[in-house]
Amino acid sequence: MSKYDYLIVGAGLYGAAFARIAADDGKTCLVIDRRENIGGNCFTENVHGINVHKYGAHIFHTDDEKVWKFAQRFAEFNRYTNTVIANYKGEVYSLPFNMYTFNKMWGVITPEEAEAKLQSQREEAGIKEPQNLEEQAISLIGRDIYEKLVKGYTEKQWGRKATELPAFIIKRLPVRLTYDNNYFNDRFQGIPIGGYTQWIANMLEGIEVRCGVDYLQNREELDALADKVIYTGMIDEFYGFKLGCLEYRSLRFETEYMADRSDYQGNAVVNYTDAETPYTRIIEHKHFEFGKGEGTVVTKEYPAEWKPGDEPYYPMNNDRNNSLYEEYTKLGEGGKVFFGGRLGKYKYYDMDDTIACAMADYAIMPCVRK
Ligand SMILES: Cc1cc2nc3c(=O)[nH]c(=O)nc-3n(C[C@H](O)[C@H](O)[C@H](O)COP(=O)(O)OP(=O)(O)OC[C@H]3O[C@@H](n4cnc5c(N)ncnc54)[C@H](O)[C@@H]3O)c2cc1C
Repeated sequence: MSKYDYLIVGAGLYGAAFARIAADDGKTCLVIDRRENIGGNCFTENVHGINVHKYGAHIFHTDDEKVWKFAQRFAEFNRYTNTVIANYKGEVYSLPFNMYTFNKMWGVITPEEAEAKLQSQREEAGIKEPQNLEEQAISLIGRDIYEKLVKGYTEKQWGRKATELPAFIIKRLPVRLTYDNNYFNDRFQGIPIGGYTQWIANMLEGIEVRCGVDYLQNREELDALADKVIYTGMIDEFYGFKLGCLEYRSLRFETEYMADRSDYQGNAVVNYTDAETPYTRIIEHKHFEFGKGEGTVVTKEYPAEWKPGDEPYYPMNNDRNNSLYEEYTKLGEGGKVFFGGRLGKYKYYDMDDTIACAMADYAIMPCVRK
């Protein structure tokens, strides 16, 4: 008989949530991670008293009450509300596009005036069937907002001209005709007090975790330990890339501690929407937790091409990659291995989706220990 019901490969949010749900149901789990720490991409590291989001800014938000209740079991969440500022060559705008944005852009004051201006910009462009991302964006919000707030940012993000990107990348560009700066529409939002790493550590309480263990280096030995394997790493890597590589967009972070500055930019997230600034945004971590006092940590985020061996951040869900992913899922593992999480599923999931998936997957992954 195997020692554990589940071997969970990956101590990121998916692995931790799955392990918690299974443990609450009386199952035994061993969680491993090849990194030296738990938390996956939600990992936060305390630097001079500030929780630094090591793999990019993470703001928890959800509309799902069950997920929110689950998340709150492991930490108290603060009242952080994401409000994003766009800096276009020194001009500052509110995001997502709302009445503050329209007022700054056109001097309009009422929703009617803003709607009329948007409508006239769309008509002026006269685009009926957008052929690329640029045309799609202009047909949705007009040229002024596109030029200052969408074009440069998007081109930096994708490393290509907006006219060379397919229209479908932007399905809609949310426009709010109110003075509401809240970036998200969800009912629940916040940051776990004490940081995401502590939140995930609390989720894993009482569950055996081994860090610095790569499944692919110790496969047979680890497989023998459990009835089922939940694999949250890259599916193509699991199969030795034998059908080819799935592609991602990557990011590069430049983080700096400023001992003699208490506030660098007055907001957690500032997007740089011009094409010339090489980074897409600057994160000032202390603002996620209303940090006071001397010293601050800022991170510049640079979009980057991905090559095998780099950190895979965003799956590139184009037709080629989606069908390659499907081919990988057909290889099967005799029902022993289940692929979960953002890398196993090759899909971008926000944290709430990740927890919801772990809940749904557990329900269809019965474990009958042999
Ligand atoms: C830049 C960025 C910003 C984001 N911001 C937000 C946000 O603001 N709000 C939000 O809700 N969501 C956000 N997300 C999404 C969030 O990061 C994911 O929902 C979450 O991290 C998914 O967790 P996961 O466990 O599936 O994957 P991961 O966190 O990637 O965990 C997978 C783990 O598996 C381990 N692993 C892989 N292969 C092996 C192996 N062979 N052996 C052992 N271990 C292995 C890895 O080391 C890793 O720790 C953001 C994502 C990115 C990229």
